[in-house]
Amino acid sequence: MAAIVDRMPDPRPTPVPRTACVVGGGPAGAVSAAVLARHGWQVTLVERQPLPRTKCCGECLVPRAAVWLAELGLGEALEQARAGSTREVRMLDARAGNAHPVWTHAFGGQPGVIVPRAAFDAALRDGARRAGAVIHAGRGVKLVRAGGDEGAQVGAPAVVTITALNDSSVAPRDLHFDLVVAADGVGSAIARAAGLAPTTVGSRAGWSFTFERCTDDHTLAPEGTIELILFGSAYVGLVRRGDAVHMAAIVERGDRWPTAPAEALRMMATRAPQLARFLAHYEASQPMPALEAACGPLPWKPRAVTAGRVALVGDAAGYAEPYTGEGMGWAIEGAMLLGECFRDGWTAAAAAEYQRRWRATVGRAQAHTLRVGMLLRGGRVAAHATRAAVKMAPWAARRASEMVVGA
Ligand SMILES: Cc1cc2nc3c(=O)[nH]c(=O)nc-3n(C[C@H](O)[C@H](O)[C@H](O)COP(=O)(O)OP(=O)(O)OC[C@H]3O[C@@H](n4cnc5c(N)ncnc54)[C@H](O)[C@@H]3O)c2cc1C
Repeated sequence: MAAIVDRMPDPRPTPVPRTACVVGGGPAGAVSAAVLARHGWQVTLVERQPLPRTKCCGECLVPRAAVWLAELGLGEALEQARAGSTREVRMLDARAGNAHPVWTHAFGGQPGVIVPRAAFDAALRDGARRAGAVIHAGRGVKLVRAGGDEGAQVGAPAVVTITALNDSSVAPRDLHFDLVVAADGVGSAIARAAGLAPTTVGSRAGWSFTFERCTDDHTLAPEGTIELILFGSAYVGLVRRGDAVHMAAIVERGDRWPTAPAEALRMMATRAPQLARFLAHYEASQPMPALEAACGPLPWKPRAVTAGRVALVGDAAGYAEPYTGEGMGWAIEGAMLLGECFRDGWTAAAAAEYQRRWRATVGRAQAHTLRVGMLLRGGRVAAHATRAAVKMAPWAARRASEMVVGA
């Protein structure tokens, strides 16, 4: 009986293999790879850096992103990387020359999660691998042709060259894919090669440091609090995880800030006594930590998020400001949208749908963040106006703080 059944034709249509090359092994790439692999795509994820790798980041995941990861079956990855929780954001304003606390915004309901990037990104890539994606590290991807319905190449596949970095014995290979997911971060070379480069380039740079073994008095960045210190054309965000303090900063380049990150930090400390105390205490027992990672220029906004068979996701699709701590959340949300739109394969209609839904959700949130950023980057006058507004209309201040932290 079993032999007869084996010989009977299967009435289901044979699934057409769909092949995707995901470029970049950060949260956007790893989650896109996991989602597409679960939908039956043959996924190759390529990361140019040796793994594990870190990334310039404040390392705070917004509460709703934790819910999405659980829905995507990646909740375990989050738990593996969790290094603490955040329950509130406290904002200090040093624009008038002396850091004053202006807002404290408590998260209602679910807390945020602190995720050291090397561990978090590795756990997400493991999730993608378990879903069936094949992962290659230490290899760079260049886009040769976006494919799709560009010019005479109607329906042609996308073509990329994959090169083994630091291994000249492996020849570069040109490969064809039904979809290229550009998850290669701010300044995406894939977006540029696909003709999506922005018309203007931002002028802000990001840096991150980790201060290990902090024995200070915890007045700066107490456990569970994200501390944000505003300096007008620069700001720093701090969070405590165990006995370490993680710090991320954004600085307007070409302004009066020194170009060396540690020097810029010292200049900020002259305006924020809390930061000065923290640095002095730290340096009394150990040297300043080396710069962990840098990023920029910011903001980055490509013309569109699709071109032919190329789809941009995460920072590659656009990145505004880290104020609201939503970058990883947007990367995860974008990957979810991408999975939904390209579930059954690449078509021009699916690409248009992805573009439309990305603009309506992530794109809209980023435009809002840029407006908030303009407000917070204002100088002394803006600082005094903010303080006066907080005193006169606490309800308005609460709403404003919700906007700043993306609540
Ligand atoms: C100062 C600062 C603080 C921040 N703080 C927060 C925060 O607290 N919370 C938050 O949610 N977000 C924060 N962000 C934003 C967050 O870091 C990003 O939004 C997030 O990393 C985006 O993930 P991604 O996967 O799109 O890109 P990335 O994490 O940048 O990953 C892109 C990957 O692509 C690889 N790559 C690039 N080119 C190629 C190539 N040609 N071939 C192969 N691989 C390639 C890179 O090596 C990299 O690993 C912050 C950003 C900055 C600058």
